[in-house]
Amino acid sequence: CGVFGIWGHEDAAQISYYALHALQHRGQEGAGIVVTNGEGFQVIKDEGLVNEVFAGNRLNDLKGHGGIAQVRYSSENGRGIENVQPLLFRSTTGSISLAHNGNIVNAVELREHLERQGSIFQTNSDTEVLAHLIKRSSGSLTQRDRVKKALSMLKGAFAFVMLTEDSLMIAQDPNGLRPLSLGKLGDAWVVASETCAFDIIGAEHVRSVEPGELIIINNKGIHSERFAPAADSAMCSMEYVYFARPDSDIDGINIHMARKRCGKRLAREVKIDADVVTGVPDSSISAAIGFSEESGIPYELGLIKNRYVGRTFIEPSQELREKGVKMKLSPVRQVVNGKRVVMVDDSIVRGTTSKRIVTLLKEAGATEVHVVIASPPLVSPCFYGVDISTDSELIATNRSIDEIRELIGADSLTFLSPEAMLESIGRPDTTKNCGQCLACFTGEYPTDIYSDTALPHEK
Ligand code: 5GP
Ligand code: SF4
Ligand code: MG
Repeated sequence: CGVFGIWGHEDAAQISYYALHALQHRGQEGAGIVVTNGEGFQVIKDEGLVNEVFAGNRLNDLKGHGGIAQVRYSSENGRGIENVQPLLFRSTTGSISLAHNGNIVNAVELREHLERQGSIFQTNSDTEVLAHLIKRSSGSLTQRDRVKKALSMLKGAFAFVMLTEDSLMIAQDPNGLRPLSLGKLGDAWVVASETCAFDIIGAEHVRSVEPGELIIINNKGIHSERFAPAADSAMCSMEYVYFARPDSDIDGINIHMARKRCGKRLAREVKIDADVVTGVPDSSISAAIGFSEESGIPYELGLIKNRYVGRTFIEPSQELREKGVKMKLSPVRQVVNGKRVVMVDDSIVRGTTSKRIVTLLKEAGATEVHVVIASPPLVSPCFYGVDISTDSELIATNRSIDEIRELIGADSLTFLSPEAMLESIGRPDTTKNCGQCLACFTGEYPTDIYSDTALPHEK
């Protein structure tokens, strides 16, 4: 998912809308904006793309100086309008609205506990747990302390934006698993999953939200404190590999440049005799350019993407994904016919894309197709909000590289090692794994995983 928040701008809704457009790649299933003018909330949200949800003049109905917004990518928690965020909880003792990116791994346990105490949930989203925890904690605490206490009970990945009638609150999980950046737009404060949202609204990037940090912004200014000590920082590697937009920076590292370095590194590690290098639009173009630059093999437009087909990986079923890949990518025959082709992709998850592309390129006359992947084999599920699900779906679980190569029909197959990926991305962090999560590549999770943590497709 992608989240955005703003405080202190007279047209919070319009700015949020532009920001959501810049975050659209992070989720295409639903979008929503909630604003406050200090007295109550107004909300528009629905399933669909940002321009569909806010079609016509709907945005004119949202008046306020504070807002939060989300684009939704439903991996873990059901689909359906009730799960589209921001969630809004109205209460005579103080309403609150929430939007979340990530996945809370102890949500099932917390929910059972809350239900025993009488909570009735409106959604099957892990996000809703936080609202109940805040509301149920002791009435004698200040709101700030209640929020802190509630946040400290959550385990897993969470970048939260929360809105009350008098403040915008921002929280990042203790491992900093999902990106979240703070910015300034004139006198207004803004927060976004990715810095590309700041560029589109003309905001200036200030800093990343820190692991375990709670930021409260109201008309008096900005206040930061911790709700938990920072644990080993573990930014999601897949943000650098695939998820984030090339023009975004995460913790000061530009995504395009990081991907390019991964591609260059691969070209140093494997020597391939080939005529052209091609990327798979859009996510692997940066790595393919890097591979081409370093190997000296010319970069060519070997594959064209149909812009009007969404992100195929995010399709809910394998049948739809396969159809999607077929409609989405076409080879450029003049480029590949009679050529030995290096096809660089960012990742192999289920193998749907690579297998299909190798076939497409060969049908278009490629004499050899060498597949180069700018990340390590994915062998373990993600519990933190990215739809890398059950082991049985992952093509690399329990298979050798050669078996995978055979399955996708490539002439050779090369992956980047986790170490080479970390070095190429180049986070300055000197702690474990350079402060990156590698769990889906190594099976080593940065947080506890609960026995009842639901896998993405099992809920
Ligand atoms: P596969 O087709 O092997 O299942 O998935 C790999 C392809 O899906 C790559 O081309 C990658 O760009 C794309 N992709 C889309 N969404 C995701 C995601 O959430 N994670 C990963 N790793 N790849 C994704
Ligand atoms: Fe990202 Fe993989 Fe960690 Fe999930 S398991 S947070 S996809 S690096
Ligand atoms: Mg791709």
